[in-house]
Amino acid sequence: MTLIYLDGQWLDRESAKVSVFDHGFLYGDGVFEGMRVYGGKTFRLQEHVERLYDSAKAILLTPPIGQEEMVALTEEGVRRAGLQEGYLRHVVSRGPGDLGLDPRKCLRPTLVIIFDRIAVWPPERYEEGLVLITAGTPINQREALSPRVKSLNYLNHIMAKVEATNAGADDAIMLDATGHIAEATGMNLFLLRKGTWFTPALHSGLLRGVTRDTMIELIHEAGHRVVETVLNRYDLYTAEEAFLTGTAAEIAPIRSVDNRVIGIGKVGPLTADLRARFHRLVRS
Ligand code: PMP
Repeated sequence: MTLIYLDGQWLDRESAKVSVFDHGFLYGDGVFEGMRVYGGKTFRLQEHVERLYDSAKAILLTPPIGQEEMVALTEEGVRRAGLQEGYLRHVVSRGPGDLGLDPRKCLRPTLVIIFDRIAVWPPERYEEGLVLITAGTPINQREALSPRVKSLNYLNHIMAKVEATNAGADDAIMLDATGHIAEATGMNLFLLRKGTWFTPALHSGLLRGVTRDTMIELIHEAGHRVVETVLNRYDLYTAEEAFLTGTAAEIAPIRSVDNRVIGIGKVGPLTADLRARFHRLVRS
């Protein structure tokens, strides 16, 4: 059952309603998080809550409750919803205001937490690997709103996703304005070349994924090196293995990018090992 926390109330899907004057709705003025629940426990809850508050701070938005209370509220919701396996969506928006941009007119921020489930791709996609393209829509410039902020403005990423689906692909890799690889539309990227793992550096303009951080730990645990650096399409086309990481889709192997088949064209052995390590970790 879907459960929703909305500004102090516990509601169901039908009764949870937000004002049309909410600046989250009118202007995308707000921030969000996506978390997963495994075996009744929210994975890396602390890290996700910290990122939510960092995102809010970056846009001068003060959530209506503190971080500790947010952690406790999240745990309470997971219990109330009876979630063993689930997906959570936290949204803090500027709140209801008037039709102008001025956030001072928004007297209190809106807090929503949705306790639900998610399935991004069917199981066979994880065995076959994803078919990707590189998107013509670039990532938001670092000099504009930082891509480190998980804001309610996802239009670039949505346009890149539309490019992918129009091309018959599963997802798109987004580049920065200089052509360096940043991330997929809602996931981070890892690729293997000559026995070393690479992932785009944070300064390539990407969201610092909690799963990305987890994967860096797991690669070290597996006894391999991982380098955070500038990568381009050539590095990806010629990779031996590659996969995407994200809370919702977890670890998704890549089959091809722009019609270049990656490695053996199915899940590589090191990717399979890291996926297995990830699944063990989240259930430990
Ligand atoms: N990049 C973007 C743009 C995302 O929306 C997400 C999903 N939150 C990620 C990367 C992956 O982050 P995480 O591992 O924290 O889910």
